[in-house]
Amino acid sequence: MATKKWVYLFGEVAEAEKYAGSWDGVRALLGGKGSGLADMTRAGVPVPPGYTITTEACNEFRKTGRFPEGMWEQALAALKVVEQQAGKRFGDPSNPLLVSCRSGAKFSMPGMMNTILNIGLNDQVVAGMIELTGNPRFAWDSYRRLVEMFGTTVFGLDDEVFEHPLAEYKASKGYKLDTEMTAEDWKTLVGIFKEAYKKHIGEDFPQDVYKQLELATKAVFESWMGKRAIDYRRATGISDDLGTAVNIVTMVFGNMGFDSGTGVAFTRNPSTGDKKMMGEYLLNAQGEDVVAGIRNTEPVEKMAETMPEVYRQFMDIAAKLEKHYKDMQDVEFTIERGKLWMLQTRNGKRTAKAAIKIAVDMAHEGLISKQEAVLRITPADVDMLLHPQFDDAAMKNAEKTGAFFAKGVNASPGAAVGQAYFDADTAEKMAKEHKQKVIMVRPFTKPDDVHGMIASQGVLTSEGGATSHAAVVARQFGIPCVVGASAIKIDLEKRQMSVDGKTVAEGEWISVDGTTGKVFVGQIPTVEVKLEEQTELLTLLSWADEICATPDIRTLSNGQKTRGLQVWANADYPKDARRARAYGAVGIGLCRTEHMFFEPERLPIVQRMILAGPGEERNKALDELLPFQRKDFNGLFEAMDGYPVIIRLIDPPLHEFMPDEEKLFEEIITMRVKGETEGLAEKEKLLAAIKSMHESNPMMGLRGVRLSIYIPEIVAMQVRAIFEAAADCAKRGIVVKPEVMIPLTGTVKELEWIQPKLEKIAADVMAEKGIEFEYKFGTMIEIPRAAITAGEIAKLAQFFSFGTNDLTQMTFGYSRDDAERNFLVLYVEQGILPKNPFQTLDRDGVGRLMKMAVEEGRAVRPELEVGICGEHGGDPESIEFCHIVGNNYVSCSPFRVPIARLAAAHSALKHAGAKVVEDK
Ligand code: PEP
Ligand code: MG
Repeated sequence: MATKKWVYLFGEVAEAEKYAGSWDGVRALLGGKGSGLADMTRAGVPVPPGYTITTEACNEFRKTGRFPEGMWEQALAALKVVEQQAGKRFGDPSNPLLVSCRSGAKFSMPGMMNTILNIGLNDQVVAGMIELTGNPRFAWDSYRRLVEMFGTTVFGLDDEVFEHPLAEYKASKGYKLDTEMTAEDWKTLVGIFKEAYKKHIGEDFPQDVYKQLELATKAVFESWMGKRAIDYRRATGISDDLGTAVNIVTMVFGNMGFDSGTGVAFTRNPSTGDKKMMGEYLLNAQGEDVVAGIRNTEPVEKMAETMPEVYRQFMDIAAKLEKHYKDMQDVEFTIERGKLWMLQTRNGKRTAKAAIKIAVDMAHEGLISKQEAVLRITPADVDMLLHPQFDDAAMKNAEKTGAFFAKGVNASPGAAVGQAYFDADTAEKMAKEHKQKVIMVRPFTKPDDVHGMIASQGVLTSEGGATSHAAVVARQFGIPCVVGASAIKIDLEKRQMSVDGKTVAEGEWISVDGTTGKVFVGQIPTVEVKLEEQTELLTLLSWADEICATPDIRTLSNGQKTRGLQVWANADYPKDARRARAYGAVGIGLCRTEHMFFEPERLPIVQRMILAGPGEERNKALDELLPFQRKDFNGLFEAMDGYPVIIRLIDPPLHEFMPDEEKLFEEIITMRVKGETEGLAEKEKLLAAIKSMHESNPMMGLRGVRLSIYIPEIVAMQVRAIFEAAADCAKRGIVVKPEVMIPLTGTVKELEWIQPKLEKIAADVMAEKGIEFEYKFGTMIEIPRAAITAGEIAKLAQFFSFGTNDLTQMTFGYSRDDAERNFLVLYVEQGILPKNPFQTLDRDGVGRLMKMAVEEGRAVRPELEVGICGEHGGDPESIEFCHIVGNNYVSCSPFRVPIARLAAAHSALKHAGAKVVEDK
């Protein structure tokens, strides 16, 4: 039986591929480094000759403690070929070949295993090297490095065994730096090192170069089971069974005079993505001199003057590598006596901005497809690009200098710097009148805090979670926001907040990072971005849209084929709608009409309407509100000309529109104590009314469709306003597509009760105005019962929109306002929940209800339009699930629309079989 092939020359990649069956198999067999070197060799790039001993040999060695049969003979035969390729001979003083022995597992384990350089040097070869190079200093320095590496790496001696005598020697000569050591000095030191070696190992440093090679190879195999490597594998989940390969690579030297050099380069600019090589090099130097920054490097372009031929060759190779790997490369190279060698190439790390530019440029260059370009960008890249970010270095510095204050839930991304104010009115006043940059800090926020939030650069709360009021509103307006930073104690009396004795007083500067959830004391510099200026991103997103619009790209669970997801936006005001369109939304998925009731000139009318009870006075208040609402809707239809606009009828419990009960009670007590009577009776009446509205559990109380049934006059007014506005717009030539959404439905009977009444109003208005247009009536699916009985509900509802904030709350029975500050974080930490279900859709529970609702709904009404408007509509993982269950669209905050467009395209491609780069 022929012995197994344990050794592959770099030029034998085709054979490795044949044996391993796939490129992944080659990586497993030859390791990342070995397969990379072999692949470069195949691409026609000058790689120093060498060979790889397989991971299979390592695994055999681990079992028996010996090289497997035939391996060493194969290694020696490969070395003969390498000698021919390099035109040098191993151990030959007149023309010596030196090699490095390097580890390389399938997955990169930087610095965790052994590397031994300069193998092949001994007392004779060093003399030959001196003759050959005319550089005794370099030859002796290389030799002493080999002795040192053998002692420390192969035999595990402490660094001190060699570092101590070196330090002593330098001190005796009065040197500070290694660069001051002369050739004679290094020669002396080689003697000292050899003695130290013998003393600790018990034998001489091996003069037999083959012995050196054998010991080094064994040492690399053994380092796979070294403590460092094992710890690293445990931490990164790499399997012990993989083993490491050993790469024997011809040493090339950049320090052989001024026709030699070494450098590193990116084939394109890694921070801007510009198609221009960016790199540096040093003449007569070794790789570590470039990295160490001891000597000033030259930009790579300078090589065009100093070594024009090498430069031309280098640029050709760079282009070849990009073509081969179809990506920007980060390369290391060495020039030995005018000959260029590429030592390493890998896909270069880059900023989000560069990633997008490079992907789009490469697609334009025909190097990759548009689909591949879209797949290379992660939603996190887009997110990163669109929000102002803290300057990286400044942030790290802030952490180091103790400016870190607290951490909460990263509710709305981006960086905000401002002066802290502890209530909405002061925040707004300081921003508007005093032109300050402010951060509004509250324990939590309520609808009547919105004006303060809008005036702020950022929002910070100590309570609440990802779907708390603060989080939802901040995301909607693109305001960076951190919520539920529970370590922070806010003292509203003293106007200060503190964490563990560190105190921030009102008016002091803080920095809030909505991307990471971190809060700092003081001002950290930020970097800004504008979507309209991001030409490449806009192009990339247009490709994402094309992908989603591909007919039949998606196969639903019933076998039906459809296009991919559309992206709509949650927008309450015309200016949000305009932004949504600018960001690429093709519909409004949720307009929360009640937000308009909070505007200062409307709130007193709303309160009057609530307090009045049924009858004349209530109707009068509603008549006053109607023109306001009509104007709001007019603006929305105008902004969304030609696109659907879903307007949700009033949802929250009425007490939210009333003054705060506690505050009012305090005012009354104060008036009574002071004996003030003017207006007291009205306040007492108001308090009694508010008390009568009190509910123990308002989230499950009189809200949504229940409220519409309880007080139908409000929604009657809203529907009239919607259709009057739509009719007016239609007459002006705007294409209107109103969709009226009834919230919080639990039983179809609710729809049966209310919907016909509202449809009649719609028909009446259209008749009055003498115009007809497309419209729909539908419902939110926010209550598990609605999902379970979706087949019934779809008999009336023409569309479903999953309100996954409430649906998550009601399915888990977790309060969306409290859970995140109480137990939810602990649940995630303890692995009881994989993720916060208010941020990422719980596929097994909530998702199952959604799936059931879509299937049963469409069984009754095949053309049923299905969307999502909960916060999950902007979360990439949840978007993927919406793609799977067959939603027509996802709706999210205008600021997240670009991210959602990309995520929707990724979902479409992934489920059509493409490989997606997941967010880290
Ligand atoms: C929801 O519940 O998911 C939703 C969108 O409605 P709201 O957040 O306004 O309750
Ligand atoms: Mg809801």
